[in-house]
Parts: sequence; structure tokens; C-alpha cells
Amino acid sequence: MLVNADLRDLYQEVVLDHGRRPRNFRSMEGASAQSVGFNPLCGDKLTLFLHCEGDIVRDVSFQGSGCAISTASASLLTETVKGKPRHEVEALLAAFIEMLTGTEKSDPTRLGKLAVFSGVKDFPVRVKCATLAWRTLEAALDGGAGEVSTE
Ligand code: ZN
Repeated sequence: MLVNADLRDLYQEVVLDHGRRPRNFRSMEGASAQSVGFNPLCGDKLTLFLHCEGDIVRDVSFQGSGCAISTASASLLTETVKGKPRHEVEALLAAFIEMLTGTEKSDPTRLGKLAVFSGVKDFPVRVKCATLAWRTLEAALDGGAGEVSTE
């Protein structure tokens, strides 16, 4: 089990790595859904592309510009949800949002690598950076119309 100090180190590592070299950072031809998310507090803006085949999220990618946290979070999101069935993706999404905004102390270890973002909860201004991609994914899963704003 990860203790807090380990998570902090991992967090630094993940945000630096994924912030500099985001995975699945591209647009997508023939996406089955796409959504735009905007966090006016920080200026993060991204478009999330989703390609589902039946119940499986076959491909997911994003484009946009934002701070290292929002970029790293979106990058890790794409790595995490790709290839997963929709109900698993929805469960992860709910758990991630809960970890960062919930009132209960959640157990981040069930989120695997995503748990590195648990410390962001102590920095309320940054919570919206970390959750932006997930809120945008939520909208894309719902059909993707319109723009998501954290405000
Ligand atoms: Zn940000």
C-alpha cells in the first residue's frame, strides 16, 4: 500500500512526465463522441475524443492547452480508460471525482495510478485542473454536446 510520502513523489513524477509528454495527445477522425472542457479559473481548455465500439471504449484522445496538472490528468485518463468497458470507465470516473471533491475520506488505492492525484484535494484551486478531463469525459459519454465549464 502506498503511504502519503510515496504518493507525493509519484505525483511529482507523473505530472512532470505526462505534463511534458502527454499520451494520446491528438485529434481523432471518426470519433463517436467528443466534448470540450474549459476551466476558466486556470485557463485550461481541452477537447476529448472518444471512440466506442459497443460497450468498449476503444480509443480516447485529447487536444488542447492547459497547465501541467490538467494535461497530466487528461493524459493519464486516456491511458487508464482505453480498452475498458463503459461501466468500468463510469465507476473510475465517479471514484476519481469523489476522491477529489467528496466529503468522505476515500481510499485512493482502488484507483491505481490515478491515486497520485489524491493530494490535489489539499489545493482547492487545482482540483478543477485535475478533474477537468474527467468532467469532459463524462459529457462525452453522455453524448458529448456542448461545452463543459468548471464554473
Ligand atoms: Zn490548470
